[in-house]
Amino acid sequence: MTEPVIEKPIPEADDASKPFYEGGMAGRLMMMKCSSCGTWRLPSRSHCDECLSDQYTWEQASGRGVIRTFGVMHQKYHPGFFPELPYNVTIVELEEGPRVVTNIVGAPNSELRVGLPVVVQFEKHADSAIPKFRPV
Ligand SMILES: [Zn+2]
Repeated sequence: MTEPVIEKPIPEADDASKPFYEGGMAGRLMMMKCSSCGTWRLPSRSHCDECLSDQYTWEQASGRGVIRTFGVMHQKYHPGFFPELPYNVTIVELEEGPRVVTNIVGAPNSELRVGLPVVVQFEKHADSAIPKFRPV
């Protein structure tokens, strides 16, 4: 008898994050940009970190950034992630400023370093696309 396959949980869009996930399905990294001061922010924050305005537009970010920090996960927590062990958990600082929690793909964990330039690459699922990053 074989063990049942347990899938990796995939985030689902809600009303506030729908433009982010729809953009991802089209290969665009969408972020919120403050209409008052121009500061970019992660979805789905209700207010600007700089001026507290709640006014914003959805804009396509460049998809470029650098690794600010990372760790490599060896511990088995959720069975859906077992096939990916050991995987990295990385914070990428986008050129626009927001810092995204993500994974670096397309390079072994041993080649990751702080300051490494990376570009977005989407991991597509049935109803969403998750932004991952790869070295430039
Ligand atoms: Zn602002």
